Amino acid sequence: MTIRKRLSTKQRALEILVRLKRLYPDAACTLNYQTPVQLLVATILSAQCTDERVNKVTPALFKRFPDALSLATADLEELQALVRSTGFYRNKAKNIKAACSMIEEKFGGKLPKRMEELLELPGVARKTANVVLANAFGINMGVTVDTHVKRLSQRLGLTEQTDPVRIERDLMLLLPQPDWENWSIRLIYHGRAVCTARNPTCYDCKLSDLCPSAQLK
Ligand code: SF4
Repeated sequence: MTIRKRLSTKQRALEILVRLKRLYPDAACTLNYQTPVQLLVATILSAQCTDERVNKVTPALFKRFPDALSLATADLEELQALVRSTGFYRNKAKNIKAACSMIEEKFGGKLPKRMEELLELPGVARKTANVVLANAFGINMGVTVDTHVKRLSQRLGLTEQTDPVRIERDLMLLLPQPDWENWSIRLIYHGRAVCTARNPTCYDCKLSDLCPSAQLK
């Protein structure tokens, strides 16, 4: 019997976690930021955009508007121009300005550390809140489910769900809480390097014996 068939889904998830740690020992959030508010802004900008592109935009953005107060009072057109190349720039600029206004008015200029409060901020859903809580404050409140985590968790047979919130719920049941964020970061690395959306290189994948979708040609 193959290792995949011998192990339960939870055992497979834990073995995948061990291998991901071995494969990507230094994996870390790839967005550049200096403060929790800057990480929030960078994460909002990363929707439908690569971290690489966001990191090209944020130096000028944070030089001009370094904190919640300056972003809350920024001229909307100037803000739009600064974030334009990340796509959906009108919506992103509007949300950044509105979120920073709420941070100033309701939370005294500091990013809140509670999931429920973060979810009140315009443009912030669980994915953004999880990234910010884990990377800015070291709090694992959930599993970040982006397009890579969604695709790989499905291919690896760890969820049958398609909705990110339901996928997150499945993963939270399979993985130890302290590993929730590092799981996502490492799975994103694997999704970029090996298990890409169009051409997964299963023959070169160190998870292939654990993966029900492996196509070893
Ligand atoms: S074996 Fe193939 S489908 Fe499975 S995780 Fe690896 S690259 Fe992705």
